[in-house]
Amino acid sequence: MKKKLLFFVLMLDALTGAAQQDIPVIETLDLAAAPAGQVSRYWLHMISNGLSQPVLVPVMVAKGVNPGPVLGLVAAIHGNELNGIPIIQQLFQQIDPKQLNGTVVAVPGLNAAGILNEDRLFNDQEDLNRRFPGKENGDVSQQYVWRIFDKLVRHTDLLIDLHTASFGRVNTMYVRADMDSDTLAAMARLQGADIIVNNPGIPSAGAGSGDLTLRAFAASRGIPGITVEYGDPQVYQPDMTARGLRGIQRTMAYLKMTQNPVAEPEKEAILCKKSYWLYTDEGGLLDVTVALGQSVARGDVIGILRNPFGDVIRTYQAPESGVVIGKSSNPVNQSGGRILHLGVLK
Ligand SMILES: [Zn+2]
Repeated sequence: MKKKLLFFVLMLDALTGAAQQDIPVIETLDLAAAPAGQVSRYWLHMISNGLSQPVLVPVMVAKGVNPGPVLGLVAAIHGNELNGIPIIQQLFQQIDPKQLNGTVVAVPGLNAAGILNEDRLFNDQEDLNRRFPGKENGDVSQQYVWRIFDKLVRHTDLLIDLHTASFGRVNTMYVRADMDSDTLAAMARLQGADIIVNNPGIPSAGAGSGDLTLRAFAASRGIPGITVEYGDPQVYQPDMTARGLRGIQRTMAYLKMTQNPVAEPEKEAILCKKSYWLYTDEGGLLDVTVALGQSVARGDVIGILRNPFGDVIRTYQAPESGVVIGKSSNPVNQSGGRILHLGVLK
């Protein structure tokens, strides 16, 4: 009897799977062709793999009946940063395109290779979010990022790039945004994050033009945006999803895409003027002794490094006061390993 039930469940899954095959494969996003007042789903053809098969990414478009901005939401450009995917899925379950002004374009999974490999990187071991603008005829990840912009992002007006911490680390919910822009500052505050870091998204000195983030490159092309980090890699965290969903809904109200009043975020974020990572200078087993979101003063102990026998070989202290934005969760630490991401308050 149980076997029959299981078979029935599998059959139902197969039937819903069949519906997926009706989703059109497109070569580029064409918002003019998307029907107004509806949600459309597409598979966007990005590149082809070594077996000549198309590599596709899922795209959802909610096109309103009235004019308004095109808001782009992209999740998992780092393939192991998954919390943004259910945020987009739940947003689209609640969105009413007949009441929407403008359009939401969302990609619930942008790094097609990294997601399958459970890896931050693309399958040429490159970080897609350090390779913009890419090159039309460049190497594997250069072509991939060139197409991310050409096929997708250039059709948007504003961008929210959804991330999490990377492998071996954990994050608060925090936003990186250029707080000199009134629109971006408002969007950053409305996320209801723990922390906002004022960061124009321009790479540090010495970085070449071929290693921009998506946010920096899009901003240089007149598409400003914010980056939101929702917690930890390779997991779903329902509290992060719920907060992230409300943040994007408040943003849509602020942009007058919905008729909802702009709700105040539940939480006033701590505003940081800058942030940086602290690194170990020795290898060993690292215990980061402060909590996410904790305030630290200059000289506070933040980490203890032991050898395998348990002897303390280093005690690390905060170099200045600040707040813990993210930290290492993996004790195994080589010289130069990350201890924590310190935000310095404005
Ligand atoms: Zn990321």
